[in-house]
Amino acid sequence: MIQPSILKLAHLYPAEMNVYGDRGNVIALRQRCAWRGIALEVTPVEPGDSVDWAGFDLAFFGGGQDSGQSLIAADLLERQGPGLRAAIDDGLVLLAICGGYQLLGHYFITHTGERLPGLGALDVHTVGGSRRLIGNIVIEVGVGGWGLGAGSFVPTPNPQPPTPVRLVGFENHSGRTYHGPGVRSLGRVLSGHGDSGEDGRGGAIYRNTIGCYLHGSLLPKNPQLTDHLIDLAMRRRYGADVAIAPLDASLELRAQQTMTSRLL
Ligand code: GLN
Repeated sequence: MIQPSILKLAHLYPAEMNVYGDRGNVIALRQRCAWRGIALEVTPVEPGDSVDWAGFDLAFFGGGQDSGQSLIAADLLERQGPGLRAAIDDGLVLLAICGGYQLLGHYFITHTGERLPGLGALDVHTVGGSRRLIGNIVIEVGVGGWGLGAGSFVPTPNPQPPTPVRLVGFENHSGRTYHGPGVRSLGRVLSGHGDSGEDGRGGAIYRNTIGCYLHGSLLPKNPQLTDHLIDLAMRRRYGADVAIAPLDASLELRAQQTMTSRLL
């Protein structure tokens, strides 16, 4: 079989929604694709753009200040809403961090009381609190009903990722996010605050959409998740039997291991 070589990614509102280097997630996806001979074509989606969501394999939606979220919330809901929701239901591979995650839920009430309507693609809602939840965070995925499910991470050679996988990141949010029955939790919080700071849930999953509070940037620090997203996108575009080539991630995994041993 000829190795397929193109994936298309939509980057939602890169100017308004990019804190803590969230753009690094797109760079990590592009680089780990390139090392495998896959060209990742990145299209920024700005307020007012018309987008054919059916043409995209992946999407990324970064975090932002309450003010940035307020600037793009109406465009997200009204202009992109129908197409993006349909694509999510159709298995678009979407990663959303912090402010982006909040806006994929039903609504976000900021700590000053402004109500931002969300896309409603994820069955979560968010309410701002007076104390910000800040610091390094570790969540454990893939065990005991938490996370992506056994075997769903692409094995990376040399060394094999530990099971369960512990994702590391940095969180800074006033919003507390509460899950409804329509999402699964991405992970269990081992260190840090997580979605609500109360219930140990770290991130949510619906179909191939993942939302969580892990800045970092998340994907450069956690190559298992980067490869999982690339794998999902390749299979969605080119068929279930397409396997992505294994890639060395030993340096990244050593850094990840260093952080988990510092924090746990
Ligand atoms: N403005 C949101 C909050 O504080 C999201 C912050 C972020 O994306 N870092 O909850």
